[in-house]
Amino acid sequence: MTLAEIVATVGQEMAGRRGEGVVADYIPPLARVDPQRFGLAVITVDGETAEFGDAWLAFSIQSISKVFTLTLALERMGEDLWKRVGREPSGSRFNSIVQLEQERGIPRNPFINAGAIVVTDALLEGRPPAAAIEDIRDVMRGLADTDSIQIDEEVAASEAATGFRNISLAYFMRGFGNVKNAVDDVLNVYFHQCAIRMNCRQLARAGLFLANGGVDPLTSAIVTTSARARRIEAVMMTCGHYDASGEFAFKVGLPGKSGVGGGILAIVPGRAAIAVWSPGLDQSGTSLVGALALERLVSLAGWSAF
Ligand code: GLN
Repeated sequence: MTLAEIVATVGQEMAGRRGEGVVADYIPPLARVDPQRFGLAVITVDGETAEFGDAWLAFSIQSISKVFTLTLALERMGEDLWKRVGREPSGSRFNSIVQLEQERGIPRNPFINAGAIVVTDALLEGRPPAAAIEDIRDVMRGLADTDSIQIDEEVAASEAATGFRNISLAYFMRGFGNVKNAVDDVLNVYFHQCAIRMNCRQLARAGLFLANGGVDPLTSAIVTTSARARRIEAVMMTCGHYDASGEFAFKVGLPGKSGVGGGILAIVPGRAAIAVWSPGLDQSGTSLVGALALERLVSLAGWSAF
């Protein structure tokens, strides 16, 4: 089967399952998204692309942004970042606070909310939040090779108005000295990075450097070192889906990162990046049909890492 045939087959197979799962409603504008949407895009390191369905429709990338802020923070601060955030799966929900007290404000990994807030704090570096937000947006535009990427101000404002758990996490960590900037500023940046809107095609394109040892294979731009790319992928594999990361590795067998907007970015080392979008989530906050589509795609293409 060609890549185009595999992607079309997966898309058609998922037609009967569209709408399964529950759309996130704790961020009100996300609850308005049509649960029937389904998009899939693959881009290989040779630049071959294949798409299906709503691959050109932008959605809220939410926690998928954490892969990119982690990459950026590692580039800016180096390995010292790992003194402030761990790299072990948490086994807890993405917005859980329970481990933070015992572990003295050092979050388990950069992909749970607490860890991502620390990474964003590191990226803020005493700059005004607007500068950091612009910086992150511009990095995403560069990686996706398009200026059309926007931040949804309504989603960002809605998260700020309803994000009591994130506010609690940030203050708690500030109490331990692991959030260094003003909490309002850190969360302002964090909510905006989560509110970036991208489509599957752009997201797969933006993640392609991870499939190619940190170097964008289409522009030769060095995004990060191969050692860092490997480690970011390792953390995606072990922590990319919160308390269901083991399940995702079991079924899909690729480094991946999900967001409550229903998107998943998955990396096929040495070969390709895949982005899928279907808004209905499973119990742990990963797209239900998106994960099923990845499971099928990986099995048809023989792309599992194992
Ligand atoms: N912005 C969301 C939050 O902080 C991101 C969560 C997610 O996508 N898992 O709750």
